[in-house]
Amino acid sequence: MTIQKELQGKVCLVTGATRGIGRATAMALADAGADVLFSYAQSKEQALEVEKLLRDKGVRAQGYQANVASAEEVQAMAAQAQQNFGPISVLVNNAGITRDRSFLKMTHQMWDEVMRVNLDGLFHVTQAVLPKMLETGWGRIINVSSIIGQTGNFGQANYAATKGAAIAFTMSIAREVAKKGVTVNAVAPGFIETDMLKNVPAAALDQVRAMTPMGRLGKPEEIADAIVFLASPRASFITGQVLAVNGGMYM
Ligand code: NAP
Repeated sequence: MTIQKELQGKVCLVTGATRGIGRATAMALADAGADVLFSYAQSKEQALEVEKLLRDKGVRAQGYQANVASAEEVQAMAAQAQQNFGPISVLVNNAGITRDRSFLKMTHQMWDEVMRVNLDGLFHVTQAVLPKMLETGWGRIINVSSIIGQTGNFGQANYAATKGAAIAFTMSIAREVAKKGVTVNAVAPGFIETDMLKNVPAAALDQVRAMTPMGRLGKPEEIADAIVFLASPRASFITGQVLAVNGGMYM
């Protein structure tokens, strides 16, 4: 359960919050009292819905259509957001995609699309937001990695490479900014019930359940809770860590 209003007065940016984990995270941050800005790629209608749901919780909220793979779009979003809402003090790098195929059948385009969004996205958004965190002397960055970045997976060499890299990126930036009031951590979700799993065959999901000690998939809200914890003052001495939220599937 979210401890109420512990993020009051904080401005948060969640990338990819029209659906799934990002959307649940946006809601949980608002429940904790934060103003919530978020980005999305295409889902304008869902973005308007998310904005409304957030504002109904009594916080300021704004969605931005900005492809995290585009430095220009991210810079424009960050500039506009900070001008209108003040410095962003919590960044959740959540936007991510898959393009699954066994490695020898994987095209360079499938490799590249995943690199551009999952990895360049981290670079662009973090570079756009970190300077103000350092200026104000307080910040939280939470990168959404994956269990696949810890174990690898059949058919996901591209995705696994980006999610493993997200962990290495987290530890590196954490070291760079540790003395400046900014913590940088990652969450590594297991298999979570979102649109991302809609192309995974039912038999494969049954196998996942069988390999998970808790015997089930996770819910987006269970990842959101971990993210809000890492964003909160309660996590003030935690940096460079990977918080696994996976029902025990990898330990
Ligand atoms: P999802 O339901 O597919 O939602 C993805 C979100 O990211 C959407 O809001 C989407 O916006 C946005 N997005 C996609 N490409 C973008 C881009 N280029 N620029 C900006 N926004 C973009 O995904 P999810 O399952 O919630 O996953 C969220 C994160 O958790 C990802 O990083 C994923 O790798 C990670 N994760 C997921 C699982 C899982 O089992 N679901 C497990 C481990 C880690 P539009 O709606 O506009 O397309």
